[in-house]
Amino acid sequence: MGRGGIRNKVNTMQKEIHPSFNPIKVSCSCGNSFETFSTLDHDLAIEVCSSCHPFYTGKQKLVDTERRVDGFMKKYGSFSKMAKKGKAEGQG
Ligand SMILES: [Zn+2]
Repeated sequence: MGRGGIRNKVNTMQKEIHPSFNPIKVSCSCGNSFETFSTLDHDLAIEVCSSCHPFYTGKQKLVDTERRVDGFMKKYGSFSKMAKKGKAEGQG
Protein backbone atom coordinates (compact mmCIF):
# COMPACT_ATOMS: atom_id res chain seq x y z
CA MET A 1 0.00 0.00 0.00
CA GLY A 2 1.39 3.34 -0.97
CA ARG A 3 4.35 1.92 -2.88
CA GLY A 4 2.90 2.64 -6.28
CA GLY A 5 2.09 6.18 -5.28
CA ILE A 6 5.66 6.91 -4.13
CA ARG A 7 7.13 5.48 -7.30
CA ASN A 8 4.87 7.59 -9.40
CA LYS A 9 5.88 10.69 -7.44
CA VAL A 10 9.61 10.01 -7.87
CA ASN A 11 9.22 9.60 -11.58
CA THR A 12 7.47 12.92 -11.82
CA MET A 13 10.20 14.65 -9.78
CA GLN A 14 12.97 13.20 -11.95
CA LYS A 15 11.31 14.66 -14.96
CA GLU A 16 11.09 18.07 -13.33
CA ILE A 17 14.71 18.26 -12.13
CA HIS A 18 16.13 17.20 -15.46
CA PRO A 19 18.21 20.21 -16.51
CA SER A 20 18.92 21.19 -20.08
CA PHE A 21 22.63 21.85 -20.50
CA ASN A 22 23.63 24.04 -23.38
CA PRO A 23 27.09 24.85 -24.69
CA ILE A 24 27.71 28.52 -23.97
CA LYS A 25 30.61 30.84 -24.63
CA VAL A 26 32.26 32.41 -21.60
CA SER A 27 34.17 35.62 -22.23
CA CYS A 28 36.62 36.91 -19.64
CA SER A 29 37.66 40.53 -19.14
CA CYS A 30 41.27 39.47 -19.84
CA GLY A 31 40.29 38.59 -23.38
CA ASN A 32 40.23 34.87 -22.86
CA SER A 33 37.15 32.97 -23.89
CA PHE A 34 36.17 29.35 -23.71
CA GLU A 35 33.16 27.16 -24.09
CA THR A 36 31.42 25.36 -21.31
CA PHE A 37 28.14 23.71 -20.57
CA SER A 38 25.57 25.52 -18.52
CA THR A 39 21.89 25.57 -17.83
CA LEU A 40 22.04 29.15 -19.05
CA ASP A 41 20.80 29.70 -22.54
CA HIS A 42 23.05 32.65 -23.24
CA ASP A 43 26.72 33.56 -23.28
CA LEU A 44 28.41 34.60 -20.08
CA ALA A 45 30.85 37.41 -19.29
CA ILE A 46 33.18 36.98 -16.34
CA GLU A 47 35.93 39.11 -14.81
CA VAL A 48 38.35 36.38 -13.81
CA CYS A 49 39.09 33.05 -15.42
CA SER A 50 41.60 30.29 -14.87
CA SER A 51 43.95 32.02 -17.32
CA CYS A 52 44.21 35.33 -15.51
CA HIS A 53 43.40 34.42 -11.91
CA PRO A 54 46.48 34.99 -9.72
CA PHE A 55 46.01 31.58 -8.16
CA TYR A 56 46.57 29.92 -11.53
CA THR A 57 49.02 32.37 -13.08
CA GLY A 58 51.21 32.60 -9.99
CA LYS A 59 51.44 36.36 -10.31
CA GLN A 60 52.01 38.04 -7.01
CA LYS A 61 48.97 40.13 -6.43
CA LEU A 62 49.30 39.25 -2.79
CA VAL A 63 51.73 42.17 -2.36
CA ASP A 64 48.95 44.58 -3.19
CA THR A 65 46.68 42.87 -0.71
CA GLU A 66 49.28 43.20 2.01
CA ARG A 67 49.60 46.89 1.33
CA ARG A 68 45.89 47.27 1.70
CA VAL A 69 45.96 45.43 5.00
CA ASP A 70 48.85 47.59 6.14
CA GLY A 71 46.92 50.70 5.15
CA PHE A 72 43.91 49.46 7.01
CA MET A 73 45.96 48.86 10.13
CA LYS A 74 47.42 52.37 9.91
CA LYS A 75 43.99 53.83 9.45
CA TYR A 76 42.65 51.80 12.30
CA GLY A 77 45.55 52.83 14.52
CA SER A 78 45.12 56.52 13.79
CA PHE A 79 41.41 56.18 14.23
CA SER A 80 41.78 54.80 17.72
CA LYS A 81 44.26 57.61 18.46
CA MET A 82 41.79 60.18 17.18
CA ALA A 83 39.06 58.65 19.26
CA LYS A 84 41.23 58.95 22.35
CA LYS A 85 42.16 62.51 21.47
CA GLY A 86 38.52 63.37 20.92
CA LYS A 87 37.70 62.01 24.33
CA ALA A 88 40.51 63.96 25.98
CA GLU A 89 39.40 67.23 24.37
CA GLY A 90 35.84 66.52 25.18
CA GLN A 91 32.86 66.97 22.95
CA GLY A 92 30.18 69.55 23.48
ZN1 LIG B 1 40.63 35.85 -17.59
